[in-house]
Amino acid sequence: MLLKTEKVFTTMQYINSTIFFTILFFLTSCSVFLYDKPSKNTVSQLKQSYEVSLGSGWTEEQANRLLVTFDFIYQDSEEPNPNLNPSVWKISNTDLQEDFKIESADNLDHITLRSDIFSIQESHEENAQETILSNQPFFRVVAQFVTEDWTNISVVKQILKDGTDRDRIVLVLKEMYGLSLVRKDTPEANKIGQKLQKYIGELRLSKFKNQELVELMSVYEKFPKGLHKIPKLKYLIRSPQAPYAGSAWIVADCVEYAAATFSIKNENEFQRVILHEKAHFLWEYALNGKLRKEWSDLGGWHKDPNNKFGWAKTKSRREFVTNYAFSKNPNEDWAESVSYYLLHPNKLRSASLDKYEFIELVMLQYTDGDVPFKRLKTLTSTD
Ligand SMILES: [Zn+2]
Repeated sequence: MLLKTEKVFTTMQYINSTIFFTILFFLTSCSVFLYDKPSKNTVSQLKQSYEVSLGSGWTEEQANRLLVTFDFIYQDSEEPNPNLNPSVWKISNTDLQEDFKIESADNLDHITLRSDIFSIQESHEENAQETILSNQPFFRVVAQFVTEDWTNISVVKQILKDGTDRDRIVLVLKEMYGLSLVRKDTPEANKIGQKLQKYIGELRLSKFKNQELVELMSVYEKFPKGLHKIPKLKYLIRSPQAPYAGSAWIVADCVEYAAATFSIKNENEFQRVILHEKAHFLWEYALNGKLRKEWSDLGGWHKDPNNKFGWAKTKSRREFVTNYAFSKNPNEDWAESVSYYLLHPNKLRSASLDKYEFIELVMLQYTDGDVPFKRLKTLTSTD
């Protein structure tokens, strides 16, 4: 009797639990279908390892991608628990203009991501590194959050050191220095060609080698962070037979390098060419007219219609870093002096302490890489 009762009860229990689990399964699968919330495991790993909390609306896939990206950036790090500010990551409900926004308040960073950032360039690659880097905007958010200094990120370092992956090099060149390469027969090439026609005739382009681009970036690094991107310096071109090692074409927003420049054996000479050409863009866009005049006065420069370059100077050769700086005009003097400031500051200091100090004050106003580039009105204030 007892046995029978137990059996009936067990059958009832079985039926009940089947119904219960069927309903539960249905609910679970429904919720998976409708909204796949981040798992407890992912949430706690983000919190424990990186002090990251998630706002509402994240799916498990997105949360996991955030975690994997953090892990990826810190994969070679010696500190397993980086000292990051606590942060809250939200997905924007309204459309953000940019891919993301980072704000800080009360020792808490708020990162808002544009909602479509996860749908950009989905990868089909098996390799984790490929997958992470394939969503470049998303990788960039995390990279930028963990450090303002891209070059300290092991992955970026790896890309630069390795120097074999064209797409990555082009990405870093664009992201860090705002520079694009110009390929033959593209609208950019045609536009630049038209602008330079009267100076160089037909524009002839040759392809940069990966290693050359990596070398260029390593030289550009010598400028303070706030000068890495100059909005009007947009393109790099490489010409097979350019007469000069480098030319700064302000009219076409580009610097042209002769192919032969990359065969310069003297490292110092090579770096000087690269720094010199970029410095011409600073002359044009970082200094206002008043500051250009102040610089010109330091060299005793004054306009002279009888001189073949239109300029004469009162100071002697020993106050200039090179013959070239001495022979042409204040702009060339500036470009040469800036390259010496960055490579051989002592030589500039001994040629002209005033010029050294002038350039130093300019550079000091561009140390912060987060402040958008703008033209200086004075050497002493930061506004
Ligand atoms: Zn020059």
